[in-house]
Amino acid sequence: MSDTLSKLLLDWFAQNGRDLPWRVKGGAHFDPYVVFVSEIMLQQTTVQTVIPYFYRFMERFPDIYTLAQADEDQVYQYWQGLGYYSRARSLLQSAKMIVGQLHGKFPQTTKEVQKLKGFGPYTIASFLVFAFNKPETVVDGNVIRIICRMFDLRQPVSEIGDLIRQKAAALTDQNNPADYASAIMDLGALICTPKKPQCMLCPWRQYCCSCNAADVEQIPARTKIAKKTMDAFVYIVQNAQGEYLLRKRDGKGLLSGLYEFPWSEKADFFAHAVHTDLTVKHTFTHIQMTMHIMLAHSEQAAVQGFFVSKDKIQDYALSTLMKKVLQKAEKIASK
Ligand code: SF4
Repeated sequence: MSDTLSKLLLDWFAQNGRDLPWRVKGGAHFDPYVVFVSEIMLQQTTVQTVIPYFYRFMERFPDIYTLAQADEDQVYQYWQGLGYYSRARSLLQSAKMIVGQLHGKFPQTTKEVQKLKGFGPYTIASFLVFAFNKPETVVDGNVIRIICRMFDLRQPVSEIGDLIRQKAAALTDQNNPADYASAIMDLGALICTPKKPQCMLCPWRQYCCSCNAADVEQIPARTKIAKKTMDAFVYIVQNAQGEYLLRKRDGKGLLSGLYEFPWSEKADFFAHAVHTDLTVKHTFTHIQMTMHIMLAHSEQAAVQGFFVSKDKIQDYALSTLMKKVLQKAEKIASK
């Protein structure tokens, strides 16, 4: 039956598959670098969000050699706003490894690819299948949803990961794995969507246990993870020239390597700072953050920071959260 399903899916894909900048139809991409960059960008991020970042990134770093010569700040410049900044660091480290240790040749086996930074099991499989047409099974959220609906798997996904992978692997087209992987992802993105799947347009409708089921939207079952809330204080500090105090975030955390307005979970910087009733809210994967805006004047570049003039601030990579703080700062300055 897997041959029948595969043929139906690939025929549907040939007519209806999405054109994406990192994809070619009819097998692997001819340039593995394109897949290398796009797969890291697509981790935890939607296709629509990635597309403009991908174009800008590829224009600035068109090949592995250009990327390998860059430094972190240059790469962050093209990643700011995309989130999960450790990915940018991993991409750069991997590019340096590929050029420095492998003479620019991309690895082609699981064993070799897993030595790269930022490549977990999912990204290894997707890199190998899209860059080299290797018969790997890619299991993303779209694939999970389709497999659960096709086979009426109603247990929470966290409990049946192995079963889903087995079923997905059994369906994978061994002769045309790259197109098959693109096709099943597109089926999930376009037809077997989380809400209101269009079963009547689905190439697998005759074989699917959940076709037109009244409760199809309840499959797969998911356990909701409650988001934590966090409050913090962010300091908009200016000197006599109106320059802003920024600092580079160090350590290995979520936003390390990026620039930020100094902030702390306690209101413990700048004793003379003025509390405002302004806040900036931002949602990370599991945290809802509220930052309370504090205003201060200082001529000292304290808290390991440095002053930057307003017209130079765009040269520093800021996270989306810090861009929101900057917008508030500009609003306050214009009053
Ligand atoms: S028939 Fe409906 S539920 Fe089944 S795979 Fe297709 S779109 Fe999804």
